[in-house]
Amino acid sequence: MRKGISIVLGLLCLLSCAKDITKVTIAKTPVPKNFTATDIKVISYNGNDVSCMLFAHRFSQGNLVYFEIVPAFDVEKITVMFNEKGIPTTKRSWGFRGFFAIAPDQKPGTHNFTVTIGTKKIDIPVVVARTPFSVSTIPMDLGKFSKKEYLESPEVLEFIRQCTEKKQKAFATHYNDLIRGRAFHPRDVHEVNSPFWAKRVYKLHDSISGKTQTVERIHRGIDLNGNTGDPVYAMLDGIVVLAEMLFYEGNMVIINHGNGMFSYYMHMDKLYVASGDTVVAGQLIGAVGSTGMSTGPHLHVSLVVDGVQVNPMSVVMLPIRD
Ligand SMILES: [Zn+2]
Repeated sequence: MRKGISIVLGLLCLLSCAKDITKVTIAKTPVPKNFTATDIKVISYNGNDVSCMLFAHRFSQGNLVYFEIVPAFDVEKITVMFNEKGIPTTKRSWGFRGFFAIAPDQKPGTHNFTVTIGTKKIDIPVVVARTPFSVSTIPMDLGKFSKKEYLESPEVLEFIRQCTEKKQKAFATHYNDLIRGRAFHPRDVHEVNSPFWAKRVYKLHDSISGKTQTVERIHRGIDLNGNTGDPVYAMLDGIVVLAEMLFYEGNMVIINHGNGMFSYYMHMDKLYVASGDTVVAGQLIGAVGSTGMSTGPHLHVSLVVDGVQVNPMSVVMLPIRD
């Protein structure tokens, strides 16, 4: 009898697992046809002991850098730093690889990418350029999110507190490098509604005093155009560490890509993944929407590396290999 039940359960599990695999939808192409920022800059170093290559869309503020290090002899461990900050690396069959962020507020000028193998230390200069981030001075009205009495009501404050706790828990998760290949664009069309690191101004109305203040905020991601229901794809391989409705973010997905890299997607209409799911680059994870603090359907996407925000579009064309 027991054996019979376990066989049935085993079969049910097999069936449901098989169903899950067929449900996964992958984007047809890694980048939409109208995505034109496809050139990649390279810095290379070739020494007797080691060769290094650094790749970036631009070596400028707010960009992600991908690097490959190939030692001439077999080594188990190397130490890598950018601007004296340690960077995690992953050992592959061909060498080591990793990522680092050029912070949006990184001082322009020459910074060192330092590789230490045994007793040998190599400094590779990286010239960081200034990025002209946009500034918007027209105060935006965010409907109920521009009303102080709504934002400060006890129920809302309690919900915001719970959401903050959930996000902190998600960003505190740790995995080794989960990336197996190239990144995908998160949409099937590339149209930017609001650029990365733009300075924006919001209205905040106090109905008791009758006064309207303005609040300045930095846009910690990019807003991509879309209609409600349009596809949202995972940018890189990883594990979903949050997938639910939050106060400001609306329906949000946070993916941990390992080694301190996270991407997140906001304001979605529908979510097709759950916390704990393993996803691959280009996998359909949700549908564009206007949930949370949003004035119309769009996708907000962000990319964080070791706590530093970078333009999520800067990962798209990097020649990442397994
Ligand atoms: Zn946004």
